[in-house]
Amino acid sequence: MSLSTVGVQPTLSGKVAVVSGSSTGIGAAVARELARRGASVVVNYPDPDDKENADKVLSSLPLSSKSMAVEADLSTIEGARMLADAAAENFGKVDILVNNAGIMIPTDVDDPDDSRIEESWEKLVNLNARGTYFLTRAVLKILAPKNSRIVNIGSGSSRVASTGVSIYAGTKGMIESWTRCWAKELPRKYGCTVNAVVPGYVATESYKAAPESVKEPIKPLIEQTPVAPREATTEEVAWTVAMLCEEPAGWINGAYLPVSGGTVMI
Ligand code: NAD
Repeated sequence: MSLSTVGVQPTLSGKVAVVSGSSTGIGAAVARELARRGASVVVNYPDPDDKENADKVLSSLPLSSKSMAVEADLSTIEGARMLADAAAENFGKVDILVNNAGIMIPTDVDDPDDSRIEESWEKLVNLNARGTYFLTRAVLKILAPKNSRIVNIGSGSSRVASTGVSIYAGTKGMIESWTRCWAKELPRKYGCTVNAVVPGYVATESYKAAPESVKEPIKPLIEQTPVAPREATTEEVAWTVAMLCEEPAGWINGAYLPVSGGTVMI
């Protein structure tokens, strides 16, 4: 069923948004929120197994949106180019890039299994970090020259230390640094702002499926969340991303914006 837009101002009408990894979870919610505000969205999924999820997201978008779904594996450099090329071919430009695609794999730095750690390193670094870098490079070539937006999805793990997730946290540290570097390097050249939205714990399916060894130490932190003892909803994260994409948010640049009920404060 498509989303209702009753009472929603089409403030992003005419804008084209690319949301990486938007077949499920936070990315899917971001795609819906941007489309609800009038944007056309390029929904991205990595492989044929995920096409059904992407199609479900697409069919949930308002009928008025000229959105599309594109298969592109962002853990490959070619995948980043393919996604940007599909957006260019269909829309001729991108106004909003949301670098959301990311995975979390638990890793212990002293895990005796070298091959497991090497494999996790490849997967985490290639998608979370390299994918963000190369998709941004590819989209810059077609970024609208005025009031465009780059929003990177970080993670509280880049600031709040946790055990057993150091490779993942490191990839999100790269995203945090790149957000600041690009916020200095790009706006005058490309007419954009660059910000990071930083979820704490979000009740997505992949989060719920994480092993108990990861979730158990988190439980007391969620209990102590200042606003309420719960995880975020995907809609709360999506609203924050969409807010940064609105034109009046054009003076927010280089922000590291936690959406965590206060578990992450800076
Ligand atoms: P999710 O698993 O629901 O979504 C990940 C999305 O990325 C899916 O659409 C998946 O198909 C896509 N994806 C996976 N591999 C890909 C690839 N190779 N190429 C392109 N797309 C690919 O997870 P989520 O919880 O919604 O996470 C989304 C983002 O939010 C990630 O960057 C994650 O690190 C970040 N985040 C999540 C939480 C949380 O608690 N859920 C907290 C902080 C940050």
